[in-house]
Amino acid sequence: MNQIYRYGRWLGLWLCSCFFFAGQAFAGDKVLDVTQVQSSAVSLTEYFSVLEDSAGTLTLADITKPEFADRFKTGQARTEALGFSYTKSAIWLRLHVKNASDQPLERVLEITYALLATVDFYQPGEKGFERIEAGYLRPASEHAHTSRFIALPLVVPAGADQLLYLRIQTPNSLNIPARLWSMEAFHSHQAGDHALQALYFGIVLAIAFYNLMLFIALRDLNYLIYVIFATSLSLALANFTGMGGEFIWGFAPIWTKIGVNVPAALASVAILLFTRRLLNTAQVVPRIDLWIKLFMAANAAFLFLLMLWFWEFNRFFVVTNLLTSVLILGVGMVCASKRQRSAYYFVAAFSVLFLANVLSHMRNLGWVPTNVFTSDGLQIGSVIEMLLLSLALADRFNIMRREKIAAQARALQVQGELVETLRASEHLLEGRVAERTAELQAVNRQLEAISTTDALTGIANRRHFDTVLADEWTRAARAGHTLALGFMDVDWFKKYNDHYGHPAGDECLRQVARVLSEAIGRTGDLVARYGGEEFVFITPATTIENAMLMARRVCAAMHAQSLAHELSEFSCVTVSIGVASMLPAQGRSSYDLVTAADKALYAAKQQGRNRVVAAA
Ligand code: GH3
Ligand code: MG
Ligand code: MG
Repeated sequence: MNQIYRYGRWLGLWLCSCFFFAGQAFAGDKVLDVTQVQSSAVSLTEYFSVLEDSAGTLTLADITKPEFADRFKTGQARTEALGFSYTKSAIWLRLHVKNASDQPLERVLEITYALLATVDFYQPGEKGFERIEAGYLRPASEHAHTSRFIALPLVVPAGADQLLYLRIQTPNSLNIPARLWSMEAFHSHQAGDHALQALYFGIVLAIAFYNLMLFIALRDLNYLIYVIFATSLSLALANFTGMGGEFIWGFAPIWTKIGVNVPAALASVAILLFTRRLLNTAQVVPRIDLWIKLFMAANAAFLFLLMLWFWEFNRFFVVTNLLTSVLILGVGMVCASKRQRSAYYFVAAFSVLFLANVLSHMRNLGWVPTNVFTSDGLQIGSVIEMLLLSLALADRFNIMRREKIAAQARALQVQGELVETLRASEHLLEGRVAERTAELQAVNRQLEAISTTDALTGIANRRHFDTVLADEWTRAARAGHTLALGFMDVDWFKKYNDHYGHPAGDECLRQVARVLSEAIGRTGDLVARYGGEEFVFITPATTIENAMLMARRVCAAMHAQSLAHELSEFSCVTVSIGVASMLPAQGRSSYDLVTAADKALYAAKQQGRNRVVAAA
């Protein structure tokens, strides 16, 4: 039943085509026999007749009128695509097909260009022409075939000879690379094509993600700028190739509408910034650097203008973008000629991409024809760029590591030198401090000696005597032994001075001091000048008898000196000594000991001088 219906339908179509349309075949049209379209695609360029509707107002009814028939231009050259550059016109295409077989034939008319806004395809049906709508402004769900480009189903009844019409309009460059496929060949081609595209976008995603991770880990802004470049470029390419529209944002035509030029402007800003930083252009080529800044500003301005206003296309932007590519290629080459290592990688990586970009724009402007390089060059170029830039990245790591090792070695050396210097100065300082300390100690000793010594005689002075007496008194009190003290005075010394003069008196005092210190020399004993011609000695743990013996020794030694003293009863210098010995006890002080000895001295003077008297 179904089959009968199907054949009935084909039959109807065939009849229609015979009666209504066959008569409209035109002499200039090159007729395409669809039976010839088998395992490979056939380019349709040479089969199209073209009518440019500059106002864009003509309808199918208009252009199928007999008076329009001759206004279609026939005899197109055999090329990959019909190119109309940027035009406001609607382009009408007429295609004359026939099916010489006795079977109805299904074919796919493919236009391998994603940036056509509206495509209307008219083919004869049972009730006149049937329209199929395509183009990125029509949601993908309404497309007849899922394809990244434009794929229109065509059914040619058995033995049919018919005219098909296409109306195409777009604000982008109007290119029509059209070809006809058999169903099987189209689907197997689609599978391979999608695999290649998936490979490409897989590489882009991996590289972009990897660089993003590098940025997060290393905090080097260059990586982030590169990620922005790679992502916006691939976004533009996702639209240019139709992959984004087919798989992701086909439901929202606006994304395709703004999705080529806006990301292209962002990519330009990012790559110019990247170029400046990577090649250090501000230092290496300061004049060209100004141009780079100018183009960055221009692209940034377009980025906003395109987003806010033009959206799809602006001729000035296309020219700016083209010149940006030329500029970057030029900068790379100039820097490479200056033997900049990073410029070699840069030129190698980006030249194919930017050349492809230049050619693609030239194709869009209608300056060069469509070919593999103008349609697929950007993708080929960007893969080459990414792989080579990864290599540059590895090289950069290598350089960075080498620099780090060198810097570490330098730092170690500097550190070593610093430590050495520090050590030396520390040593010097220590020496100086020791020197100063020794000097100070010597001075201190001198001062101490001066403060404890009697200047005239060189033996201990009164001050020192007071200190030692107090110490010995306490010590004797603690140890529980006696402390003995001798108080000595030179006899008739006033007369000596009067007779011999004061300098001789001084000399005499020195003699007395010497004799005294020679006679009282036991460790722990002290001899001192008490004042004037009076001297003292203290001797710890000594009984009064022993102290008497010591004092008598001094008296005898002094007498034995026979120092002439004419006015003395003894004719020589003599001394009198009072001796006391005490056990320090409650209620007694060293003052008592001195007083006792002084009293004994007084007694010695009374008893005739030149003698020793013990305290009572
Ligand atoms: P006496 O036998 O009673 O001790 O008689 P004296 O003359 O020694 O008695 P006095 O204590 O009156 O005399 C002490 C004299 O010693 C007075 C002073 O001129 C003299 N004298 C005191 N200190 C010094 C001194 O540093 N150098 C000299 N040259 N004479 C001194
Ligand atoms: Mg005296
Ligand atoms: Mg005297």
